[in-house]
Amino acid sequence: MKIFKNIWSDPVWSKVIATGILALLAYYISPDKWTTYIISKVSSLVTWFFGLTETPNWLLTIMAICVFLVVIILVVRLLGDSKQRYTSDIFQGVEWHWTYDSLGRVSDLYPCCVKCQCQTIPNDVGAYRTQPKIVFICPSCDDVTSIFDKNTFDIEHEVKLFIQQKIRTKEY
Ligand SMILES: [Zn+2]
Repeated sequence: MKIFKNIWSDPVWSKVIATGILALLAYYISPDKWTTYIISKVSSLVTWFFGLTETPNWLLTIMAICVFLVVIILVVRLLGDSKQRYTSDIFQGVEWHWTYDSLGRVSDLYPCCVKCQCQTIPNDVGAYRTQPKIVFICPSCDDVTSIFDKNTFDIEHEVKLFIQQKIRTKEY
């Protein structure tokens, strides 16, 4: 039901539906012209449908309908799933950007400078310490955004947990 509400509130889909309703009204208002037109189109479609190529046309039609339905489902999911548009956020003083893989998992996570949006380079400045210290230095504006007492893997893992938390709580 929510999908129908979304489709109806969408400016493009509501126009498509309105056009369909107007076409139906026009059909009932002047049935003679439309009946001839529709019968000729339907008969040519039926002729094509039962015609033969190397692949039966009915099989092509079923495949086309399946592809059409899959495309519609994907488009509706993409439009309805605002998570797909949540691809950046600031965690621990660093602006993170990411994408989602085919299973919806966060991937291609990379840090950026909060001031100039340039991708930053994480540097482990605590190489001789027992606890690593990672500094995100902006190559564009030399801004040092944050220092963490974790290694790069731990930081990225923690950021992914924060992203998943925000998706679950819908706080993005
Ligand atoms: Zn910068």
